[in-house]
Amino acid sequence: MVIENVNLKRQYKSIKSEIDDAIYSVVQSQHFSLGPALADFEIQFADYIGSKYVVGVDNGSDALIFTLLALGIGKGDEVITPVNSFTSTTFAITEVGATPVFVDVNRDTHQISVEAVKSKITSNTKCILPVHLYGSPCEIDKIKSITDQHGIALVEDAAQAHGSYLHGKHLGTYGKMGVFSFYPGKNLGAYGNGGAICTDDEKLYHKLRLLRNFGQEERYFHKEFGYNSKLDDIQAAVLTVKLHHLNEWNSKRRSIAKLYDAALTNIVKPRILDGALPNRHLYVIESDSRNKLLAHLNKKGIQALIHYPLNIHLQECYKHLGHKVGDFPNAEDISNRVLSLPIYAELKKTEVAFICAEVEAFNHESV
Ligand SMILES: *Cc1c(COP(=O)(O)O)cnc(C)c1O
Repeated sequence: MVIENVNLKRQYKSIKSEIDDAIYSVVQSQHFSLGPALADFEIQFADYIGSKYVVGVDNGSDALIFTLLALGIGKGDEVITPVNSFTSTTFAITEVGATPVFVDVNRDTHQISVEAVKSKITSNTKCILPVHLYGSPCEIDKIKSITDQHGIALVEDAAQAHGSYLHGKHLGTYGKMGVFSFYPGKNLGAYGNGGAICTDDEKLYHKLRLLRNFGQEERYFHKEFGYNSKLDDIQAAVLTVKLHHLNEWNSKRRSIAKLYDAALTNIVKPRILDGALPNRHLYVIESDSRNKLLAHLNKKGIQALIHYPLNIHLQECYKHLGHKVGDFPNAEDISNRVLSLPIYAELKKTEVAFICAEVEAFNHESV
């Protein structure tokens, strides 16, 4: 028996006719780019998250880049961001020529430290780019008060946070802009690449629409420099089908997380904020002998993964920034101890029980 970290085949089986119809109807219409399926998804996703506007783009990484470009952030500007994320978050800052200013995370939540953010603000700080890691909220309300107070832009990397809330407000809607990824393994995943930006700001909305479409408002007339990064209509149609199931899937993920919580009482897990409704994108545990536990689970056919094994400041591509081991001790400790257990809506109770038994068996053997 193999238990994948995410099993998309089971999901497809459960919605096959809806998906097949949606793809077929786009093919029949032959509107593959900037067509009605995209417009429809943008409206429905905006409505779902409670944002005025949504702009669909090719992927979450481009979405991050476009938010910074739309804000006019570039050379000489500083953007504060946590070292514990997928490196793509920081790549966006590098891509626009700005300087990433790294901060540590809280040891208990694994999320960006508000105190660290405060200590890194300078006259060059133009934006704070926090991440809602694992689909759980960071203290975005507190960060928003800081950015409001200092007149700094706030952009949320909500790439893992579809259907996650803090105090009843959808993540991604606290800041000037919020970024989502629809990479297949995300809670709302396309059948290929996909991403989106949400905003309540009409000017930014228009800028983002230009950025994704060669800077064109009218075909072959380029108002601004731009890119080719649109969410394809076939992907948009798939996402619209899946959006209607997202609440049910997230609620199943929360039930699975509860089963894990109940069985793994002796295991350290990241603390989730009061007032949070997380989408349970990842179910993360900590272990003193993480690598051995990972090997044990893999041997038993359980596909556990590490999110993430090396902090951004220690990545080879950022060697030139001059960071060293010990600069961000919480994030570094976390990266050596975390393990993500399989979680998805169709994961069976018996499978969860098997996974928990193997985690417990390993712990007994290793004491
Ligand atoms: C997935 C992800 C991204 C990148 O999204 P892509 O669509 O894969 O480009 C960025 N940030 C975080 C935190 C992610 O999990």
